Amino acid sequence: MGASPAEGPTVTHVFHRQLNTTYPRAVAAQGVTITDADGRTYIDASGGAAVSCLGHGHPDVLAAMHRQIDRMAYAHTSFFTTDVAEELADELVARAPAGMGRAYFVSGGSEAVEAALKMARQYFVEIGQPQRRHFIARRQSYHGNTLGALAVGGNEWRRRQFAPLLIDVTHVSPCYEYRDRRADETPEQYGARLVRELSEAIDRLGGENVIAFVAETVVGATAGALVPVPGYLKGVRELCDRHGILLILDEVMCGMGRTGTLYACEQEGVVPDLVTIAKGLGGGYQPIGAVLAQQRLVEAFERGSGLFQHGHTYIGHPVACAAALAVQRVIQRDGLLEAVRRQGAGLRERLQAAFGAHPHVGDIRGRGLFQALELVRERTSKAPFDPQWKLHARIKREAMAQGLMVYPMGGTIDGQQGDHVLLAPPFIVGDADLDAIVERLSRAVDNALASLPA
Ligand code: PLP
Repeated sequence: MGASPAEGPTVTHVFHRQLNTTYPRAVAAQGVTITDADGRTYIDASGGAAVSCLGHGHPDVLAAMHRQIDRMAYAHTSFFTTDVAEELADELVARAPAGMGRAYFVSGGSEAVEAALKMARQYFVEIGQPQRRHFIARRQSYHGNTLGALAVGGNEWRRRQFAPLLIDVTHVSPCYEYRDRRADETPEQYGARLVRELSEAIDRLGGENVIAFVAETVVGATAGALVPVPGYLKGVRELCDRHGILLILDEVMCGMGRTGTLYACEQEGVVPDLVTIAKGLGGGYQPIGAVLAQQRLVEAFERGSGLFQHGHTYIGHPVACAAALAVQRVIQRDGLLEAVRRQGAGLRERLQAAFGAHPHVGDIRGRGLFQALELVRERTSKAPFDPQWKLHARIKREAMAQGLMVYPMGGTIDGQQGDHVLLAPPFIVGDADLDAIVERLSRAVDNALASLPA
């Protein structure tokens, strides 16, 4: 038998992702903080994994969930629809990019991506183009850990050992201005070069054989808040249209207000055919994700087989829908998109002041309350640290010791791990919280750097 929680765990029977690690035991959470069993508090400056957009313990969300549980916890979607799923779909469709007519609910981001990939493929079967069987996606991207999502994902480190199991996907360059824009290029010229590269990839496959191009509007978990250069996604949209290829934007991390507009693609002036959302949709109160689909795709299904050949047990779970509906209504009622823009600018200013001249911070980037640092051994050459040193993981450890949660990542730079820190605090974050976040992060970064081998 394992030790009782009160004595503290000697053996854990939970199969944690990271083995041989001792985690603090989270016991309570309120607002922007989480408290552990030893009474230590942590500022949740990453919203978990860019999830907790309203912070913790929001009374309106809890009340909505309680009401729904009391009424009905579960009804399977092959028998029923529910008021709460219908209301959530109405709310999402009303505020979605133009033409999005339906919301398909799932339980998280990877499921949303899987569903979008299958929806895209089935759409072409429905309209008599079954020869379309290729996806194109980008390096330095993360779309989830299930096999389809992993296949479109472009993080070599995550894919490597599963590569034999993955569908064959063509990967093109990410839009990574800090590393890849040439000194003699404007951002627009760089974006146009990336669109040409995509065009060449499409031509090699044959435009009539490609199902979709898949991209995160703002890249999150592999490279830290990579923002597209002006015009790039518009160029991608035009190219896709020319070949009848669908554009799937993955806004699981950057969507639902995180960048200051409900959908990050609004700021690019681009409307996708399918958009995936999760994380901030339910704000962590319940596991929920969704795919929003253009009405013309839905109509093709209606005219065709009348069945999307897919499904999961917990689709449209009433309590999850109630939580998400409450989260989304609070965001609108309390003007939190405006708060994201205002506090995001405040966070960026503080990061600039603390790290703008730091010898090992090569780039500070992001949008809204989705900001990142990229750490480098040397600023001029942008050379990364030795990946074996795992600087990003050291920063996470040091930050936790300071009572701060940040999202560290080792992206892939020239086939090597790079070091990024992503900040995605709740939309309710206050000025004093931002001061504390950046002060603690500064100490954590400096302590982590001081711990590196000489
Ligand atoms: N897509 C993006 C852009 C993500 O950032 C993530 C998770 O970080 C996913 C998909 C997968 O979501 P989940 O972890 O909920 O399966």
